[in-house]
Amino acid sequence: MTEILRCTSCHTFTMTPLCTCGGSAISVIPLKYAPGDKYASYRRTAKEAERKAQGVL
Ligand SMILES: [Zn+2]
Repeated sequence: MTEILRCTSCHTFTMTPLCTCGGSAISVIPLKYAPGDKYASYRRTAKEAERKAQGVL
């Protein structure tokens, strides 16, 4: 299934995983929430590391 993606570097929407600017595109559809999400801690850890790298935290 092809879904709409957004480039991580130039923030434009695209349908291909590789943007025309050379950046990689990721899905804009948020992950489905489940109360018993067994991967939630992994996602939060990855997000925290990503935000610390960006200097947000
Ligand atoms: Zn781009």
